Amino acid sequence: MNGLRSFLQLVAKNRNIATLKETVRTTPEYSFIYPESIHEYAGSVLFMVRYEEKGKKLIITRSDHPIYLELNGEVFNTEDLQAKECDLSIGNSKIIRKYFSFTNPVSLAHFPTTIGLGDRLGVASSGHIKVVKKYNVRPVLAQQSMRELNLTGRTYEDVLSDVVWAVFQEDYQGGYGADGDHLKTVAEIKLALDAGYSMITLDCSEHITNLPSDIVREEIDRLYTELPAEKREDLENRFLQQNFVLGSDLTFSFPPDSFRKYVVIYQKAIDFAIKVYREVISNAGRKIDFEISIDETATPTDPLAHFFFAKQLLDAGVEFHSMAPRFCGEFQKGIDYIGDIRAFEQEFRQHQQIAEYLGYKLSIHSGSDKFSVFPIIGKNSGGRFHLKTAGTNWLEAVKVIITMDPELYRQMHAYALQYLAEARKYYHVTLDVDKIPDLSSLADEDLKQLMEENDSRQLIHITYGLILQAKNDRGEFLFKDRIYHCLDKNESVYEEFLQKHIGKHLETLGVSLNNL
Ligand code: ZN
Repeated sequence: MNGLRSFLQLVAKNRNIATLKETVRTTPEYSFIYPESIHEYAGSVLFMVRYEEKGKKLIITRSDHPIYLELNGEVFNTEDLQAKECDLSIGNSKIIRKYFSFTNPVSLAHFPTTIGLGDRLGVASSGHIKVVKKYNVRPVLAQQSMRELNLTGRTYEDVLSDVVWAVFQEDYQGGYGADGDHLKTVAEIKLALDAGYSMITLDCSEHITNLPSDIVREEIDRLYTELPAEKREDLENRFLQQNFVLGSDLTFSFPPDSFRKYVVIYQKAIDFAIKVYREVISNAGRKIDFEISIDETATPTDPLAHFFFAKQLLDAGVEFHSMAPRFCGEFQKGIDYIGDIRAFEQEFRQHQQIAEYLGYKLSIHSGSDKFSVFPIIGKNSGGRFHLKTAGTNWLEAVKVIITMDPELYRQMHAYALQYLAEARKYYHVTLDVDKIPDLSSLADEDLKQLMEENDSRQLIHITYGLILQAKNDRGEFLFKDRIYHCLDKNESVYEEFLQKHIGKHLETLGVSLNNL
């Protein structure tokens, strides 16, 4: 409190923000103040602090402007001036968004290179901001699916509020996105839009028909004729007996057999996407970055199917900005690409040409740690792509726990093993439990090796929800509070890990450094 008092005395004498920032950066006594968080608004000076016991708070000095009254907090007096100490609540984040426009999510559709940085715990964004400031990339800092919200017990408002505070703390004015990820219904989309999200990823997977691999042609024909004759005729007129020239070395035509198969697999999903766009995206009242995802399905999207899908959306007037096909090979969570890298490159190029020709970006989902294909993605897209990461940011948090509180990690690990079968219902992974070493055989300093191996990575990756929600008989969290406590205490360590790891993603993708 003494440090705060002396800093407020300084503020009373000198309101030059640049000088105040410099003083905080260079004065050990003020190390509890976030230098970049110092802002001025209509006579009030605002800044964020972290207390050992109480955690992070916002301080605002008194002024007659409504911002001082509207921010909810506890008033206190120092010798020279009055100030208020405010919680980093959702309500207060909305006041900050009202007066500091850079803290609001925005459309990033016009930026070539964007990266989704899902943060399930709500404490990673400051590290993310520190790394994206160095590169020619724009971040989607808020990015959660309904599945993630259910598993972590958070809401779209919680997620955005955590990001707003990080953006304010780091004074990030480059513009960031907020993605309601993998949404499946209009009701879910409305939740994200009402919370102020700037991007919607529509998951069409439930409307995609998964055909058995041994299906015979007669069966496809039979399913095809279930469609109304009028609809069939319209589609046949638009796709059969013609060549689609998408550049000098890519021409598509639809053999009748494949055409009928695509209709059977994708038509319901296409019609669903068009309906959702008309019902809720086109009249959102602001610009929404609309992404179409068809990746979470049993059927890899071959390039011709991708074209069939996207062309119909555009013909129907759907304005979308990115599309996530399911690429060949496997994009499993939190580990490198599994599959034939040459086949991936060949197919990626065609997907890229389609996207470029039709005017949107490819979106690469489950993009965490796919280091072996990143150079291919970077090079063939010319730096125009969206890449989504999420689980890897949680795994970096786990690395902090391993380093700083190995005993906590040991308990989380044992719990994850115990409840793995449950987690496997939500996430498809190939992990082999027998390959994970017995922890009692590992010294604390060898634990970090676990985060370099696929099986133990996936074990911890997919059980995050169970670990966070686990409670004892008295209804107290087994791990959640200790996890937050550890990350809070070691904020700069987590930031450092994230900068290094996400930096490696961007480097491998060929994203250039920002020379500003
Ligand atoms: Zn996806």
